[in-house]
Amino acid sequence: MSCESCNPGGRHETGGFTTENDFVCERSRIQQLIASGKADVVKTDEWETNFVCGECGQQWHISMPDQAYRGFLKKISNYLACRS
Ligand SMILES: [Zn+2]
Repeated sequence: MSCESCNPGGRHETGGFTTENDFVCERSRIQQLIASGKADVVKTDEWETNFVCGECGQQWHISMPDQAYRGFLKKISNYLACRS
């Protein structure tokens, strides 16, 4: 599940950021969602942020790149949401 608020065009889930710019663009898009109240942070630390879309309730996980590690943006699957 996702929507035009958290995943405009349905193209934003990525198994790995291909470039630093990819990551920077996605991070700023997500920071804007959170800053404008369209998403809420569930947990965050130095390496990762989990947030939930206020429109559709989808939870997302963004993992920060670190040198050779590319990081990613993924939906948190429903079975994880049910367990918590
Ligand atoms: Zn959404």
